[in-house]
Amino acid sequence: KHKSKQAAKSIGSPVQQAAVLGAGIMGGGISYQSASKGIPVTMKDINQAALDLGLSEAAKLLNNQVSRGRLTTEKMAKVLNQISATLDYASISHADIVVEAVVENPKVKAQVLAEVESNVNIETIIASNTSTISIDSLAANLKHPERFCGMHFFNPVHKMPLVEVIRGKATSDATIAKVVAYANAMGKTAIVVNDCPGFFVNRVLFPYFAGFNQLLIDGADFIEIDKVMEKVFGWPMGPAYLLDVVGIDTAHHAQTVMAQGFPERMPSPPKDVIKQLLDAKRLGQKNGLGFYQYQ
Ligand code: NAD
Repeated sequence: KHKSKQAAKSIGSPVQQAAVLGAGIMGGGISYQSASKGIPVTMKDINQAALDLGLSEAAKLLNNQVSRGRLTTEKMAKVLNQISATLDYASISHADIVVEAVVENPKVKAQVLAEVESNVNIETIIASNTSTISIDSLAANLKHPERFCGMHFFNPVHKMPLVEVIRGKATSDATIAKVVAYANAMGKTAIVVNDCPGFFVNRVLFPYFAGFNQLLIDGADFIEIDKVMEKVFGWPMGPAYLLDVVGIDTAHHAQTVMAQGFPERMPSPPKDVIKQLLDAKRLGQKNGLGFYQYQ
C-alpha cells in the first residue's frame, strides 16, 4: 500500500530528470530543448559519433544564441552541463521520463522500449517520438503500457512549438498529464490526440500535399504555388519547400502510411511527384536537391 502511494506521488510530480534515446536530428534537438529549459537530460545512443554530433549540434545552437546577445557564455556552459551522453542503459535508470527517438523501425523500437523498461523503475514514463508507428503496437512490447504514450516533436525541435501527445488505449491519465507538463516545461504547446495513422498533423498535411500533387499533374508550377502560399497567403513556406525541409524520403514514407491507414480517403496517387523525386534520389535539403537545389 505504502509503495503504491509513493508511486502515485512520483508520477504526479514534474519531470526533474529526462533521458532521450537516439542522439540524431530529433533526439539531439529534444535534449537541447530540455536542457535549455533547465531540465537535465541524459542522451543515449549506440554510436559514440552520434552522441558527439548531438552534443556539438547543441553547442552550435547555444553559440548562435550567445553571438546574438541572447545568452551569456555562463548560461551556455550551464545548459551544456545539463546534457550528459552515454552508450549505456544503466545511466538512464534514474530518469523520470525517457523519450525514445531512435530510427523509425518498428523492430528496433520494440527492442529498445523493452530494454528501457527493464532498466527504469515503475514510475518512469516512457514516450516515443515516432512519426508513423502506431502507439498501441509499440505498447504491446511493454509490461506496463499505462505509463507509455507518444510524444511527437517536429523538426527543428527548438523552433517548432507543437508537440503531439498520443494516447494509446492503455495510457493512463497520469501519464498524459506528466508528458503534457513536460512539454509545457520545455516551452512547447501540447495537444493530446488519439492513436491513429498520422495522429493530427499528418492527417492535415497529407491531404494538403495530395492537393499540391494534383495541381502539379494539372500543369501548375511548384515555384508559383510556393510563392502564392508564402507571399500572398502568408504561410511561412509553400508545399514544395516544406517537402524539401521534411525530406522527400520521410514524406514518401509517411504518405505510404497514410494511404495504408486511410485507403479510401488518402489513396496513393497514380502519378506521384514525391515518388518521382524519391526515385531520382532528390531527397530535399538533406542531400542538397529536392524540388529546389541547395548549396
Ligand atoms: P536520425 O537517423 O537522425 O537519428 C536516429 C538515432 O538513433 C541515430 O543517432 C542512431 O545511432 C540512433 N539509434 C539507432 N538505434 C538505436 C538504439 N538501439 N539505441 C539508441 N540509439 C539508437 O533520426 P531522426 O530523424 O532523429 O528520427 C528519430 C525518430 O524521430 C524517428 O522515429 C522519426 O520518425 C521521428 N521523427 C523524425 C522527424 C524528422 O523530421 N526527422 C520529425 C518527427 C519525428
